[in-house]
Amino acid sequence: MDFRKVYSKVKEVMFYDIFENWDVLFFILIIGLEFCSPFLSKEKENARRLLTNFGHVVVSKVFIILMLGLFGFTFKYLDHAVLSKGFISSLPISFCIKALISFVILDLAIYWQHRLSHKLSFLWAFHQVHHQDKALTVSTALRFHFGEIFYSLIYKTVLLIIFGIPLKIFLAFEAFLFACAAFNHANIKLPLKIESVLSYVLVTPKFHRIHHSVVLNEQQSNYSFSVPWWDMLFKTYTAKKSVVLVGIENEKVLSFLEQVKTPYLYIKNMKKVK
Ligand SMILES: [Zn+2]
Repeated sequence: MDFRKVYSKVKEVMFYDIFENWDVLFFILIIGLEFCSPFLSKEKENARRLLTNFGHVVVSKVFIILMLGLFGFTFKYLDHAVLSKGFISSLPISFCIKALISFVILDLAIYWQHRLSHKLSFLWAFHQVHHQDKALTVSTALRFHFGEIFYSLIYKTVLLIIFGIPLKIFLAFEAFLFACAAFNHANIKLPLKIESVLSYVLVTPKFHRIHHSVVLNEQQSNYSFSVPWWDMLFKTYTAKKSVVLVGIENEKVLSFLEQVKTPYLYIKNMKKVK
């Protein structure tokens, strides 16, 4: 049997290349691990949370497709006309070194975006939807308000143009970041030794759980998404061993529609207070 032929047939039927979307496969693997070996059984994933959190992905995708369509914007054109002639693309170094430099720039930029999302009221209006989740599971990694996904895309596009990062490298970084988010939001029990060794090089579920704490000074720490080094460097690192309660203090569980309306109501209230 020719496996290449079978694979291309499957790809044709499913309109989907699983190997190009390894991060999605990784996400599914983490769901399986959460069922087999949960860290907290009371915070187990359930159909309601999966559907609600996945709902944010659907709304974001539709919104971004509509916005890009409205402005006639295509990333393929951007890559061909601008990015491929930009600073990093033009450097006389190997593709791997270009990818490494780009990953460091993008990861540092994401750290600062995340930190500012907690410090600036306008950005917190959107980012708080991610923190409203009363449990921490792999599907929390999907729970981002479409407004946050949109301003994040504009921010990343500006970075791509300034640094001339090739689109191929950016897409690989996005897949890497999504896989990291799936891992660090996961409700999985890791052997203590593995967790403590990993925590020096990777943001682990235990480390990121502190960032989701209801306690404000814990929530305003551990901003890194992939490697914990940015928090160490900028002194926002919190290491704590006990289990922390996650969510936003004194807030009830919100319906999907209430979550979508959160930024609008928050900004409206801000204006009233002023
Ligand atoms: Zn956050």
